[in-house]
Amino acid sequence: MIMDEIALDKIDRREPFALYVHLPFCHYRCHYCDFYASAGVDPQLRRKVIARILREITNQLAYLHMERLVSVYVGGGTPSMIDGDQLSALIDLVQSYHPQQVTIEVNPEDVSKDLIDALGLARWQNLRVSMGMQTFHQASLDAVGRKVTTQQMFDALELLSPYKARLSLDLIAGLPFHTQAIVESDMHRLVTYRPAHLSLYALAMEEGTVLTYRHHPHLPNEEERSIQWQASQRMLLASGYQQYEVSNYALTPNDYSLQNTHYWQLKPYIGIGPGAVGTLPLLDGSALRITGRREFGVWSNPDDINLWHRDMIERESFIFEHYMMGFRTALGISKAILKERFGDAGLAPWEHLQKSKWREFLQEDDRYITLTEQGRLVLDAILLDLL
Ligand code: SF4
Repeated sequence: MIMDEIALDKIDRREPFALYVHLPFCHYRCHYCDFYASAGVDPQLRRKVIARILREITNQLAYLHMERLVSVYVGGGTPSMIDGDQLSALIDLVQSYHPQQVTIEVNPEDVSKDLIDALGLARWQNLRVSMGMQTFHQASLDAVGRKVTTQQMFDALELLSPYKARLSLDLIAGLPFHTQAIVESDMHRLVTYRPAHLSLYALAMEEGTVLTYRHHPHLPNEEERSIQWQASQRMLLASGYQQYEVSNYALTPNDYSLQNTHYWQLKPYIGIGPGAVGTLPLLDGSALRITGRREFGVWSNPDDINLWHRDMIERESFIFEHYMMGFRTALGISKAILKERFGDAGLAPWEHLQKSKWREFLQEDDRYITLTEQGRLVLDAILLDLL
């Protein structure tokens, strides 16, 4: 089982639970991506792994006494590439826990009437779709190995347009061949389409990815990438989007991602699937981090019960994680959660910052502490001071 009986009694159950399901299968490997996912997996093996994931959702949630969930996120990988019958079974299963919100990631090239039917988008009003667009510039898509055409993107947006109040789109600024004009044209197209939610990232050079070891001659440098990201950010704000986290924007607070908000507040969640991560706060202020083993062989073998790695996060480290995650958000960190979980020690880092050179970047109200917008720009330096 995901944890032992002794630890089970120590779970802090004061906050609702969320579930993350990881489907680590892709059609191809994008050159900037460091997520745990594989391309070209044999379809039979993939079906076996997914069947096991479905079984483990039922098993582990029963074992952990999680009869209700506040939110479910199905990510990857590319969840939209799995067989329609398994996709429907997965959505039906997670909906049986009555979550307020379910989100599933899709790739534009997979969007079809059949996919929309398999997901039950018309039936499940709490179901959100998160689609990875990245850019509409074909040369940039080609340069990072994304095998999708801009025409496929337009077709996907058209098919999903009845659902755009439940649609989130992902964009990346600073891809090869990007100029400020291209990035602004991407933004213009998107804000005209007007999805309820957007995630905007500056291209990050992650270790071990193709982009880091194979120099691309048309890659904007770090400063250009950051300028392009900031220009995009200004356009989104000017178009009426609210920035509720460093990379996330929504039309209204009702459009915020419940799952992300849950993570940023370090509320309890479990992850099911190869490489999926979950964090369960314990009553003594520490936490248990549980990660699904990555080997597909383990997940496809019905007799193998050794599916998880477990790591303890000590109380001090867990307090730091609250600041690291919470300071990314406009809302910030709940004082009540800090107090409830850690007593006076929860607010000690905040008191330290109030006496430091960073005090001008702090803001608080009765319920939350956070950084100002300027403060979020120097987040890394502020966090270093807390280490
Ligand atoms: S970016 Fe998405 S589609 Fe591309 S390799 Fe990573 S998980 Fe797969």
